[in-house]
Amino acid sequence: MAATSDTSADIEEHEDVWVFVEQHDGEVANVTWELLSKGRDLADERGENLVALVMGENIDETDIPEQCIARGADKVLIADDPVFEPYRSDPYGEQFRHLVETHKPAIALIGGTHTGRDFAGRVAVPTHAGLTADCTELEMEDGRYEMRRPAFGGDALATIICPEHRPQMSTVRPGVFPAAEPDADRDGEIEEVEVVVDEADTMTEVLEREVGDVADITDADVVVAGGMGAEGDFEPLWELADLLDGEVAATRDAVEEGWIEPARQVGQTGKTVRPKLYIAAGISGAIQHLEGMDDSETVIAINTDPNAPIFDNADYGIVGDLHEVIPELIEYFQEN
Ligand code: FAD
Repeated sequence: MAATSDTSADIEEHEDVWVFVEQHDGEVANVTWELLSKGRDLADERGENLVALVMGENIDETDIPEQCIARGADKVLIADDPVFEPYRSDPYGEQFRHLVETHKPAIALIGGTHTGRDFAGRVAVPTHAGLTADCTELEMEDGRYEMRRPAFGGDALATIICPEHRPQMSTVRPGVFPAAEPDADRDGEIEEVEVVVDEADTMTEVLEREVGDVADITDADVVVAGGMGAEGDFEPLWELADLLDGEVAATRDAVEEGWIEPARQVGQTGKTVRPKLYIAAGISGAIQHLEGMDDSETVIAINTDPNAPIFDNADYGIVGDLHEVIPELIEYFQEN
């Protein structure tokens, strides 16, 4: 699609780093806190404000705006209307587009979740902003904003810049940035904005919502991950994960074998996790896998091969057969 070129004067009008606050039924997605932390750093480096944008109904009955300020926002914009509940891409996209055109942010960060991926394009296309999807790194480099994301199926890491258009938009993979602890003493401004979307103009209507058992391994404090060494039997891993109130994850090879669903794949072409505890069972430790878990707080590796590279990235290593070691761990945790 041909985009109109902004002039440098237009570009200079754009300032501030925006973060889209993803909330469903008043519950904020963790990626929002991660983006506010990263956004805070970017805003500080640029000498600009960090602005959080919340859309929904009766937001003032929640503590979401205050939480956003505690997590780093200088200002919270609220678009409050029944049209935003439940989530639909057209009202969200249209309201965000309007705010981009009237408020002119320089950078807009959106979680690379189902929701974020769904509506971000509805903002990027009409504003000619362009959109870098699924970013894993965001940096200011000599005053220039650089977005990085895996390319060519994960074989390369592409650096993308946006010299001619604003805002510089990214969807960002959940789990890649740590979320800073909230600081309840931070000050910030809360502003309700005009809602420009009308129910009559929306093209979609939600008739029914069925929430399935969708795994979110990125939110889990404990991840028990299995690889080819599990030889198709993930049952002990599920049992251990249940005991530890955790989630089960896997390597790409295990996913490709069909032993577990793709939503649970960790790594360069899967998800990024940073749990308190990552148990890697029957996983060799390929670089593409490590990329998705090497920020875990504590890693325990279980592998029959004492020379498996995963041990170089583990805090504790157990050389042994996972089919013997995991049942022993289960027994231990059941008793203690
Ligand atoms: P293997 O490498 O086969 O390792 C199995 C391990 O199990 C071995 O170390 C073995 O000693 C051990 N073992 C065997 N039996 C037992 C037992 N009974 N008990 C304990 N240990 C045992 N991989 C990902 O995981 N995520 C990605 O996102 C990803 N993206 C990729 C992108 C690209 C472009 C490419 C080229 C590859 C990607 N891969 C990814 C694949 C990656 O390179 C590895 O092939 C994969 O991670 C290996 O999976 P694995 O550790 O399960 O299997």
